[in-house]
Amino acid sequence: MNLTPWLGCIRPDCRRAYEISDILYRCPACGDLLEIQYRGQVENVESWKETFRLRRSSNYFPDRSGVWRFREMLPFCSADEPHLVTMEEGNTPVLEAPRSARYCGLARLRIKHLGWNPTGSFKDYGMTVAVSQARKLGATSAACASTGNTSASMAAYCARAGMKAVVFIPEGQIAYGKLSQSLDYGARTIQILGDFDVAMALVEEVSRDLGLYLVNSINPFRLEGQKTILYELMDQLGWNPPDCIVVPGGNLGNSSSLGKALQEMKEWGFLQKVPRLLIVQAEGANPLYRTWSADRAQLEEVPHARTLATAIKIGRPVSWQKAIRALQFSGGDCQQVSETEIADAKSVLGQDGIGCEPASATTVAGLRKLRSHGGRGHHDFSLSPEEDVVAILTGHQLKDPDYTVRYYTDILYESSTQKVEWENCSAKINPAFLNRPVQVKADKREIARILGGC
Ligand SMILES: *Cc1c(COP(=O)(O)O)cnc(C)c1O
Repeated sequence: MNLTPWLGCIRPDCRRAYEISDILYRCPACGDLLEIQYRGQVENVESWKETFRLRRSSNYFPDRSGVWRFREMLPFCSADEPHLVTMEEGNTPVLEAPRSARYCGLARLRIKHLGWNPTGSFKDYGMTVAVSQARKLGATSAACASTGNTSASMAAYCARAGMKAVVFIPEGQIAYGKLSQSLDYGARTIQILGDFDVAMALVEEVSRDLGLYLVNSINPFRLEGQKTILYELMDQLGWNPPDCIVVPGGNLGNSSSLGKALQEMKEWGFLQKVPRLLIVQAEGANPLYRTWSADRAQLEEVPHARTLATAIKIGRPVSWQKAIRALQFSGGDCQQVSETEIADAKSVLGQDGIGCEPASATTVAGLRKLRSHGGRGHHDFSLSPEEDVVAILTGHQLKDPDYTVRYYTDILYESSTQKVEWENCSAKINPAFLNRPVQVKADKREIARILGGC
């Protein structure tokens, strides 16, 4: 393998190149995003596939990580190993989901569950790479704006690296599970009186002013790490790509990263066929959906984005251009789903024994919606019932248990002023699948009566 990494501006009429060791998040010349690019060729693709597979049984620490097992595809070399900050992230399962498949009107549906990571979300795939790069550069502190999972992940990896972590979160708008993680890992936690988009704009400035290493998905090293989600998936599928890969879209870092992985895998000869990428957004936080479906050249921002799926409650996604590129390259599509559709889809996944946080369930909701419209999406996209689909679930069920209990006890509202308790609730969601806990006297006969003698 002989790939030399460099940092390149994504803007077609700029394309300036920078050193891989430069601490840059945007192109100094034009202000657009940067990405890591590679010079060189991959030889002996089949033997690399074999090597990746064999590393699964190795005890050598980078081999045990579902990210660093694929290190030749990342901008690091063997001399960088002392800097690696890893917790055996990745290694997430691919699960059959027959009930969810039927619900979506598909013959078969498989789930890749990224919530089974050290901090419970896919952010660990990117964070191990971003924090390793931070340590390589000698950074002593890192920062991010977050709807919760980025901060949980950053806080954990910084703690392991002995670095200070500063997180900016929108006040009252992140799930409690996620907030508790940042606190537990010792991050300095700043609650901004504003939404994610406000926090994101601030953190870029504050990081620049105070010299904090920024690990939002604007950081190209994060997106490189998240590429390995697809290397891992393809390895698990014996390099037989599915027809379609479905993913939730928030800040659109992950969609961009998956698109980049597909593009590189095709270019380097790992894949002959490219799966179509389907990105699903919540109706109240749907800037990519608006932009894509109307074929706009500029982002259709959504001021004051709204959804209970807080991980994707973002109206001004940083990586929207990269996401559009991913849709164009793969022949993909973008869908939007309602709050009720998200909540019911999450419950159906539960019936398959697969828990997730609300944002992840947009995938199943989006597939069902698409199939109920005859499989036809925008720009010639279509999905037939026999096609091989993998849905990417992004976060763990226990991130947001409040949402789940409210759903099953029929007190989930689309809108509320959420502090610790929910206040001023309105627009109740009508669940398709109630499951209330039952209160019973501490008495055997009473319990038998309630259970109908079984
Ligand atoms: C971060 C996150 C998303 C959104 O990913 P983007 O890269 O911001 O589009 C979706 N689901 C979960 C659980 C997340 O943590």
